[in-house]
Amino acid sequence: MEEVKKCYGCGAIIQSHNEKHIGYVPKNATQREHILCQRCFQLKNYHKLQTTNLTKDDFLNLLDHIGEKDCLVVYMIDLFDFQGSMIPGLLRHIGFNDVLVLANKRDLLPKSVKERKLEHWVRRQLKQEGIKPVDVIVTSGKKNMNMDSIYDAIMSYRKQRDVYVVGVTNVGKSTFINALLKHYAQVEEQNLITVSEFPGTTLDFIEIPLDNHSYLYDTPGIINDHQMTHFIDPQDLKKIIPQSELRPIGFQLQEKQTIYFDGLGRIDYISGDQASFITYFSRQLKIHRTKTSNADALYNRHKTFSFELNGMDSIEKMKTYDFTLKPGKCDIVISGLGFITISSHGGKVKVHVPPQISVMIREAII
Ligand code: GDP
Repeated sequence: MEEVKKCYGCGAIIQSHNEKHIGYVPKNATQREHILCQRCFQLKNYHKLQTTNLTKDDFLNLLDHIGEKDCLVVYMIDLFDFQGSMIPGLLRHIGFNDVLVLANKRDLLPKSVKERKLEHWVRRQLKQEGIKPVDVIVTSGKKNMNMDSIYDAIMSYRKQRDVYVVGVTNVGKSTFINALLKHYAQVEEQNLITVSEFPGTTLDFIEIPLDNHSYLYDTPGIINDHQMTHFIDPQDLKKIIPQSELRPIGFQLQEKQTIYFDGLGRIDYISGDQASFITYFSRQLKIHRTKTSNADALYNRHKTFSFELNGMDSIEKMKTYDFTLKPGKCDIVISGLGFITISSHGGKVKVHVPPQISVMIREAII
């Protein structure tokens, strides 16, 4: 029988097949006697936190554990993929604890949009989910934005209690915590972070002392199955995940016209008066307009796109979503990829995307 080895830092069972799961080490390191998993190794040597993922059940256990504490929950969401970054049923699990919301990746939205506007928008979206946060702070972990306000808010809302930072994978939680650590590492470096085990499992929380009695805990994330990023080759991910401000491209569309967002999908304007469509996607994606009557053939010819998705060699393999537009402004969101702001007098649109990808309509963010 193969011997089970455990990381001497966090106790996770050592494995070398999934880099994003707990206990990962590269294959050539599994033979060592004392093994530190990659996450603990990074933490110990570089003070760099690497996020791990959990199964759904483990994640819900973890939230229930938080629900049993009297603590402040810092809930990180992604402004670029708001719905995709929501934790389903969060409130049911975390009980009556205060929630401070950090709306991250502000740098991806146009600079011209006022922070207040984003904050109000986030509050309205949260209200629909039944979440009434003690505060909402717009931030960008990558650009160290509003770090002072966040630090002050955490310190004041926690009221001497522990703090748990939660979020789905890819919201930018580890980038943010690393930024926070760099800014406010007032304690001696080697005491800064310790790894503590989640009771009853091999899951670990990262513990950062706030004072002599309380801690900030970073918690592992959960993969959101609907994010586009889970269905795309890693080498293409860099192209589609926007790294800098999204590029708005505006079109005045007549009915029976279509906009392709590269080979990833398209939106057809089925019926309605002339309307404004502004696309917000990664700068690397080719966005273009065509007649809906030509659109299927265009996709199936394969020539026009800078890249294609695995197995999506014909437009018929895509899933479609139909939406009725009310007069005014709204966003059609393609989870993890981008969104289209439509201003119209009302009408109908159809969106084609690979299966598993969710598409939704929401109040316009910009
Ligand atoms: P985690 O899974 O929640 O810990 O997320 P990471 O911190 O690993 O970040 C996930 C991805 O989002 C990485 O590609 C980061 O570079 C990116 N990211 C994190 N924070 C920001 C941010 O504030 N702005 C932008 N544009 N990207 C970010």
